[in-house]
Amino acid sequence: MLKDNLSSRDLSVIWHPYTQMQTAPAPIGIVRGEGACLYDEDNNSYIDATSSWWVNIHGHAHPYMAQQLAAQAMELQHCIFAGYTHPPAVNLAERLLQILPGEQSRVFYSDNGSTAVEVALKMALQYWDNKGQRRHKIMAFKNAYHGDTFGAMSVSGRSVFTRVFDDFLFEVHFLDVPTPENTDHLIQEIAALGPDQVAAFIFEPLLQGSGGMVMYDIPSFDRLLQYCAGNDILLIADEVMTGFGRTGKNFAMEYVTTAPDMICLSKGLTGGSMALGVTTCTATIYDAFLSTDKLKTLFHGHSFTANPLACTMALASLDLFLHPDCAANRQRIHERHLRFLEELQQLPGIKNPRLLGTILAFEIITTNADGYTNSLADHLHRFFREKRVMLRPLGNTLYILPPYCITDTQLDTVYGSIRELLK
Ligand SMILES: *Cc1c(COP(=O)(O)O)cnc(C)c1O
Repeated sequence: MLKDNLSSRDLSVIWHPYTQMQTAPAPIGIVRGEGACLYDEDNNSYIDATSSWWVNIHGHAHPYMAQQLAAQAMELQHCIFAGYTHPPAVNLAERLLQILPGEQSRVFYSDNGSTAVEVALKMALQYWDNKGQRRHKIMAFKNAYHGDTFGAMSVSGRSVFTRVFDDFLFEVHFLDVPTPENTDHLIQEIAALGPDQVAAFIFEPLLQGSGGMVMYDIPSFDRLLQYCAGNDILLIADEVMTGFGRTGKNFAMEYVTTAPDMICLSKGLTGGSMALGVTTCTATIYDAFLSTDKLKTLFHGHSFTANPLACTMALASLDLFLHPDCAANRQRIHERHLRFLEELQQLPGIKNPRLLGTILAFEIITTNADGYTNSLADHLHRFFREKRVMLRPLGNTLYILPPYCITDTQLDTVYGSIRELLK
C-alpha cells in the first residue's frame, strides 16, 4: 500500500524545485484543495498559510473559477496570438488597464513572473534603442528577487540562488533598500552613475518577497522613484508578488505618488490557478515601437502567450477580487495579524516583527547567520508540517501570507502553531 502512494512514486521520477533531493523529506501527496486547505492522500488537511508559494488568493478549487474554466474549455483552449486574438485576452486587458496604477495603456502577455520580467527588461532596453539613445545601465535593489531565468536572475541580488551563474549574468547597478537615512546617499549614487545612461530601474514595490519579506520606508522609496522619474529612468514595478491585494491596496504602487512606466504581474493574476504573466506599459513606451521599420518591433513571444484558459481564470479571479467581500476579508486578516503582531512584540526569541496588508513576518533569532541556507529553515518546515500548517520559512524569516478566504479559526491555528514553536 505505502509503496505505491504518490509520495513514493514521486521519489523515483520527480526532481523538485528549490529542493536538495538527497536530504529533503519525502513530499506530501496532495489530492485536493478547498478554501485555505489542501488535503493529502489520507485526507489529512493542511492550512495553506503561504498561499502555495504566494499565488493563491481566493482559496483552492474555487467552484466559480472551476465553472468559468470548464465553460471556456468547451469554447476555445488555445490559439496562436500573433495575427489572431480572442475574447478572454481582450476582456482581461481592458479590465486590467482600468484598475492598474499610473497610466498603463498596453498589455503584453507571457506565462509566468520571470517571463513578465524578461519582457519588461527587453521593452526598456529596446525603447531607448528605438529612440536612438544609448542607455545601457540597469538598476535594481540589492537582495531583490525577480525570477530564475537569466535576465530575471541578472536583476536579482547575487546570492546562493545565482552563485553558479554569476559570471553569465549581465551587469546591474545594485542599490540599498531606501531608508530615511540613506536616500540622499542613494540619489547621489545614481547621480554619480550618470542618470542619463540608466535605461531602467526594476524593483519590487514596498516589499522584497524572496529577499526575506523586507519592507521599505514608503516616503523614502517614493523620493527615490521621483528622482528616477525626473531623470527619465524607466520604472519597472515588479508586482508579481505584491499585486492583487497582498499589501493592503490592490497594487503596492498605489502607496506612492510616482507612476510606474511598466508593471509585471503573475502569481495572484489568475487567483493562483494557472500560469499567466502580464507586462503592461504606458503609451509613451508603446509608441516608441511603432514604425514602418521592422527592426523596431518587439521580437518576443511564447507558445502559450495569452492562453485563453489562463486569461479566463484571471477574469474569474478579478470578478472575485473586485467584490467587496474580498476587500473585507483582507481587512479582517490585517486586523487579526495586527493583534498577533502585538503579541509577538512581547515574545522572546524573535526580532523585527512587521506587518504589511495581509503579510506578517518576523525573524527567529539564531546563532547562525541570517539567510536562506540557514539550517533552521528545514527544522521549522518540518515542525509546521507535523502541525499540518504549511509555513515555509525563508532562512530564519518566518511569514504568514494566506489566501484571503482563510477563516478566523484557521488563522488562530496558524498563530497557535507559531506560539508553540516559540515556546
Ligand atoms: C515569484 C516572483 C517572480 C518570478 O515569478 P515566477 O512565476 O516564479 O517565474 C518575479 N518577481 C517577483 C517579485 C516574485 O515574487
